[in-house]
Amino acid sequence: MIRDSAIGGVISGLSQVFFGKRMIIAKSQKDLEKMRAVGELIAEVREELRMLAAPGVTTLELNAAAEKMMRDAGSIPTFIGYKPHGMVAFPFAICASVNEQIVHGFSNDRELRDGDIISLDMACTLNGFVGDTAMTLPIGTVSDELKQLIRVTEECLALGIEASRVNGRVGDIGWSIQQHAEKYGYGIVRDYTGHGIGRSMHEAPQIPNHGRQGTKEKIRAGYCFAIEPMLNLGTAETKTLEDKWTVVTKDGKASAHAEHTIAVTPDGPEILTLTKGQKRALNADKAETVAA
Ligand code: MG
Repeated sequence: MIRDSAIGGVISGLSQVFFGKRMIIAKSQKDLEKMRAVGELIAEVREELRMLAAPGVTTLELNAAAEKMMRDAGSIPTFIGYKPHGMVAFPFAICASVNEQIVHGFSNDRELRDGDIISLDMACTLNGFVGDTAMTLPIGTVSDELKQLIRVTEECLALGIEASRVNGRVGDIGWSIQQHAEKYGYGIVRDYTGHGIGRSMHEAPQIPNHGRQGTKEKIRAGYCFAIEPMLNLGTAETKTLEDKWTVVTKDGKASAHAEHTIAVTPDGPEILTLTKGQKRALNADKAETVAA
């Protein structure tokens, strides 16, 4: 995710200096092949963590498993050492954010407990391109309130992806997410946003999780986005802990996060952060829909 005011400001500021306006990089077919490869890899890591996360497991164990998988596959954990201007370097391969933590949570030796929810955000770099994905998982049995928060966050992600269409606008994505989240009265985090992605984890444009249809940057074929709604049970307001990274809700209520890296193609949005198996299942579904 990208800090709306700080990092985004630096990126847009720099590109304004060099290019006169925010530059969005459209990917070539060759670049897209590399984005697909890294997307599949980070999706495999995500699904491994989905299997591992359970009561009694620590976030340090999840972090170690993710880092090993990334390195064994020849990729670099993108988050380790990530150091936006004026910040301290991020020390872990994943962001592990439990309960009221929204994003950027540090891994530690606290065991996950029945009833927790955990957001796991991860990225790796392979052949010079970055894949970025996140999910929120229930640990053991969680309340219906938390189950709904997770489900609606995933639905918002799907709606944001669906709105990522050639000749649409970035504001369409935020609007799609916002109108669904607001039906449930959830706080939509505004201090952090989705982002363009490619050779760098954070490229232009910023992709807020709220907005108005028909506003902001025009969407073109070849754009790659990390779309990532962050929804809170209570207030949208955030604060950062003393470690300078971990972001929590101001009211201490739970937060959920879901993210995919996607490519905009003339045929519609393509989710890059799916495993081979998930892609096969998706294509089978599509074929069935066409047949029916
Ligand atoms: Mg991201």
